[in-house]
Amino acid sequence: MSISIKIANYIERASWIRKMFEEGARLRAERGAENIFDFTIGNPSTEPPASLQQELLKLAQQPVPGMHRYMSNAGYEETRQAVADHISKNASQQIEANHVIMTCGAGGGLNVVLKTILNPGEEVIILTPYFVEYMFYIDNHGGTAETVATDPETFQLDVAAIEAAIGPNTRAIIINSPNNPTGVIYPAETLQAFGEMLARREQELGRTLFVISDEPYARLAYEGQSVPCIFNHIKNSVIVTSHSKDLALPGERIGYLAANPAMDGVEQFMGGAIFCNRVLGFVNAPALMQRLVTNLQEESVDINAYQEKRDLLYDHLTGLGFKMVKPQGGFYFFPESPLEDDVAFAQLAQKHNILVVPGRGFGAPGYFRIAYCVEREMIERSLPAWDKLAKEAGL
Ligand code: PLP
Repeated sequence: MSISIKIANYIERASWIRKMFEEGARLRAERGAENIFDFTIGNPSTEPPASLQQELLKLAQQPVPGMHRYMSNAGYEETRQAVADHISKNASQQIEANHVIMTCGAGGGLNVVLKTILNPGEEVIILTPYFVEYMFYIDNHGGTAETVATDPETFQLDVAAIEAAIGPNTRAIIINSPNNPTGVIYPAETLQAFGEMLARREQELGRTLFVISDEPYARLAYEGQSVPCIFNHIKNSVIVTSHSKDLALPGERIGYLAANPAMDGVEQFMGGAIFCNRVLGFVNAPALMQRLVTNLQEESVDINAYQEKRDLLYDHLTGLGFKMVKPQGGFYFFPESPLEDDVAFAQLAQKHNILVVPGRGFGAPGYFRIAYCVEREMIERSLPAWDKLAKEAGL
């Protein structure tokens, strides 16, 4: 074998979204692209806000000398300050630029944090249903992923279940709110109870338990809600996020991490994370993108357009009898599979030209994921196909 056994196994395990994507390409070629309703990938169909084009034009017309050179591994001071000011709006204390590092997306930031904190064999708790890359990111840095279920009715944090899973080898817990794939937002009271439990367990175990709050959907919250700032509730916490979704820039690889200034040994953590950003080969986040997002910290894509898509599809699908938690943010639904076998359901959906991802791809068999970051017009065209699918699935 030309690749390691482990990577060969991982490719097999991580293949659900990829498999559905390839299936989509095959079906498009066979049945015509306009007849396929592809809800598999979280790749926004929206364009970035107009203000981004204006910033880009300014940079092209008035280039700054040295703008393409290496910089501090943490990123431009000005960009980090703009990010710190943005976080401070929601935090109970002022955040400073020296607690922010610009990263290559949230994926890059998660790898930086995990490399910074993990000793070999230490455990990281992730919550089902989870973003599958967490498994691989944890393994990248010698850690072991431990899964804990969220509440099966609400997909909210089950603080008692997390507490029961914490042991002497636990190093961190990754949370994601608004959540991919469920769309739930963890409320401030839950985060407070979570933080109090962790503080108690840290005392008992005599070690730091990090919470890594993965928040790429934080600005995509509906009905005027805002996502509570983790720093207000959990001392040893790190925010990891990106502009992949809120500014619709996933291909540009721009994001950041920010450490809670109250964290134990925060300066050592920052030194470690800056070093890891360098030695993971990222060196620094893309220079041009850092300059672009500096003045866009209060901007986002049109959230109302996402909310309208959510409402359109939610009302139609629940009307047909699909059961799901109504997403409060992000752009995914995670309904119960009407067939016991979620893979069989995804295959049945394909028969009706609808592509979805089986829940087992997120560690939660018995569900399926719909990504509704697609053109509204495609959602509208897909509705009759959903009707037929619901009927055939026995709803
Ligand atoms: N975390 C979650 C929950 C995601 O859904 C994604 C992307 O879909 C990422 C992290 C990675 O995002 P990025 O493009 O910023 O690396």
